[in-house]
Amino acid sequence: MATNIWTPSSWRSKPAAQDVVYPDREKLDKVLTKIRTLPPLVSPSEIERLRHQLGQVQRNQAFLLHAGDCAESFDACTHENIAAKIGLILSFSLIVVWGVRKPVVRIGRIAGQYAKPRSSATEKIGEREVLSFRGDNVNGLDPNERTPDPDRMLSAYFHSTATLNHVRSLLTSGFASLHHPRDWSLTHVRSPALRNEFERITEGLSDALEFTRTIGMGQDGQSYEQGGSRGPLGEVDFYTSHEGLMLEFEEALTREFPIPSSLASYAETSPKATPKAHYNTSAHFLWIGDRTRQLDGAHVEYFRGIRNPIGVKVGPSMKPDELVRLLEIVNPDRESGKVTLITRYGASKVEDHLAGHIRAVQESGHPVIWISDPMHGNTLTSASGLKTRNFGTIISELTACLRIHAECGSHLNGVSLEFTGELADDGYSVTECLGGSMGLREDQLPLRYQSFCDPRLNFEQALDVAFLISDHFKK
Ligand code: PEP
Ligand code: MN
Repeated sequence: MATNIWTPSSWRSKPAAQDVVYPDREKLDKVLTKIRTLPPLVSPSEIERLRHQLGQVQRNQAFLLHAGDCAESFDACTHENIAAKIGLILSFSLIVVWGVRKPVVRIGRIAGQYAKPRSSATEKIGEREVLSFRGDNVNGLDPNERTPDPDRMLSAYFHSTATLNHVRSLLTSGFASLHHPRDWSLTHVRSPALRNEFERITEGLSDALEFTRTIGMGQDGQSYEQGGSRGPLGEVDFYTSHEGLMLEFEEALTREFPIPSSLASYAETSPKATPKAHYNTSAHFLWIGDRTRQLDGAHVEYFRGIRNPIGVKVGPSMKPDELVRLLEIVNPDRESGKVTLITRYGASKVEDHLAGHIRAVQESGHPVIWISDPMHGNTLTSASGLKTRNFGTIISELTACLRIHAECGSHLNGVSLEFTGELADDGYSVTECLGGSMGLREDQLPLRYQSFCDPRLNFEQALDVAFLISDHFKK
């Protein structure tokens, strides 16, 4: 078999890092057969719309916000949690729009972000050595439920569907309207300074919006080609994403569709474009994790054939020439906005690696989007044994990225963050990361620590980051 012919299953002939071994193969096949018959979660035209908008990000005409949970859980699929997540993403983007003065493209880590890569296949719990928890779509957090169960993939499909349905209904019911941003819940924000600053911005933006309506430039009637912001999921654009880790699942939701004709002009920018393409219909955007980006591996093979825009995590072990070879594989036609590089080195390593990566990509001529993930290289364990991150360290990596891009004649086009608007039962924000304007201390971490995966910035800490970005660009 010629090795360079891509099909949705050609990844199967390559080694897959972070592979999950299912003891019951028959059940796995049955589940995958079922998923293959289920309807797509997202449509080709929505994916094309994101491709177009990411082209604008790549050309520095828009800013990308990629944010959400490290991992979603089935239990957290509730109205309150989903509304809190969307509310925070909207609040964050509003602050960024204010300072950056460009549209913000919002991609949530939501409606399918269940699978997790792990540094070790097993872990010790008490006296027992058990398989590591790999995310709700694989096995259970409970040490007695660690055997991978294919039915969880079906559950993941339906929880993604329920989440996406609720996101769509929130965004088409006025939830995102600038006229009542207070619905996004600022009541629990204790810092008056943070609350006042946010209110000042929303009032300013509401006035601006009113003004454009008055002079007949309201956003509602505009198509997105004209720069309007009314999107497929409602009155603002919002897109979904997850790490494309479980390739069996991704393959089962990969469908061949005609490229929507109204978008043919975008397709024509690619010389090899055909009228049909393979879309991963489980999310608008998928990314390859730092542990599964081997050039000859299964994940890179799968990702090179889908039409969705994709992300690639870039950590300190990535060699500059390896990065360029990876881009050649996943974006041979050099389409603008197709690939987002999500850099995540750690505050102490960003100086050693980022400039080399930027220069190698510049020399290659590949049109990439650069965004900073200042979370994943900065995880530490607190004295009490909780996984945490320090706000100051996160900011240090982010500001280094802004500076290094400027020094290299490049641009930071966005950020990728793990944050949550979720509140604990007592109505206060979660306490998973240290510092920020609320000055969260180490002894306060256990108070409202809710993540079962990586620690997330809470509502106030996330807004702190938004103001920092906003202020940086306002200058
Ligand atoms: C993540 O984004 O949650 C993650 C596991 O990231 P990385 O692949 O960069 O470690
Ligand atoms: Mn994470």
